[in-house]
Amino acid sequence: MPEGRVFPVWRGIGAGPGVGGGWSQGWGRGLRWEPDSPGQGARVPVFDYPVWLVLCRGGRARLQELFNIHQIPTVFREDSIISGYRHPRSSALDCVLSSFQMNNETINIWTHFLPTWYFLWRFCVLCSTLNFLTDSYTWPLLVYMVLICIYPFTSSCAHTFSTMSPESRHICYFFDYGALSLYSLGCAISYGYYVMPDCWVNSFLHQHFVPIAIGNTLFCTSLSCYSRFLELQFPQRSKALRTGAFVVPFLFDTVPLFYRILLCCGGSCSSSGALSSHCYHLLFAFLTCFLFTAHLPERLAPGRFDFIGHSHQLFHVCAVVGTHFQMEGVLADMAQRKAWLADHGATPSFLGTIGVLVVGLVLNLGIIGLFSAPLLWNPCRGAPPPHTSKHDCKAH
Ligand SMILES: [Zn+2]
Repeated sequence: MPEGRVFPVWRGIGAGPGVGGGWSQGWGRGLRWEPDSPGQGARVPVFDYPVWLVLCRGGRARLQELFNIHQIPTVFREDSIISGYRHPRSSALDCVLSSFQMNNETINIWTHFLPTWYFLWRFCVLCSTLNFLTDSYTWPLLVYMVLICIYPFTSSCAHTFSTMSPESRHICYFFDYGALSLYSLGCAISYGYYVMPDCWVNSFLHQHFVPIAIGNTLFCTSLSCYSRFLELQFPQRSKALRTGAFVVPFLFDTVPLFYRILLCCGGSCSSSGALSSHCYHLLFAFLTCFLFTAHLPERLAPGRFDFIGHSHQLFHVCAVVGTHFQMEGVLADMAQRKAWLADHGATPSFLGTIGVLVVGLVLNLGIIGLFSAPLLWNPCRGAPPPHTSKHDCKAH
């Protein structure tokens, strides 16, 4: 398949070492086209040609050629993933179609797209059984359910459109991190109202739990977005910062739960049904964190798990299974503790739940905007004029 017919602009393919593609200069070495040895072409698995795609293109197969790690700019490379990369200048349509073509992002896309529909279905069922409009006791759950629908959907979109350009890749993942960070705020709101241990209700921590969680979400989004700028030069530091950015709000949100489990181990167990769901959630949360940092199993056999079974896919699966158990735990606590909390706890207010969600959303969008602005205004975006030196534009 002639390459020029699939992708409108591409420079540098087949160029010798040191000859960057024309568009590569905007991100310096991060975008440098580093072709592999001649003859080591892209791997296109035989199952890359779904019949429907051929049919919907009027019988003409217009499929993305896949690339190996040495054929794409550094900024697109994933640790220990050798093949199955999409074109780093794909169009939006190519990105959408690529989700039906087997590449190293396909399972990442679907492992968060399908769970979005599962959580939406659970949300719809709850809408038909609970009174979200006027019963203020349900508002923390409403915020939580909205956010557990948003975060997998945003992640799925980020994985779909991350190969349109280096800039779009970063902006897509800024939104992904923002949605995860907001999800941590949703956890704090629901935990603050339903999961807080009896003896901590109305304590200092309880009263300041949600305001601190807003601070955590700002810290999380800022640090995780910032970590992308360090990725090329300091990959280890970038990974450590990003992991820390998500671990801090998780640990803070989970403190009340840890204390309840501790009390339970001490013999004063209440609502054990909810606690068992919470324990499963914690188990999957730790597994999620382990997979995110360890890059197993692909690190043990680079190239073997490029399409199916690499750590990011397992990370997605563990995250949604963990969220499922968390949702069950929150629902069980909400139902079992309603009478006790009505007598002892503060009634959820509109501002303390939906108001906090809106504030968190606006602040997170602001942070994403701040980090995206330099990428969108980069004068070296796209193919620079031929006279532009590669030293004119610095890497971020
Ligand atoms: Zn992901």
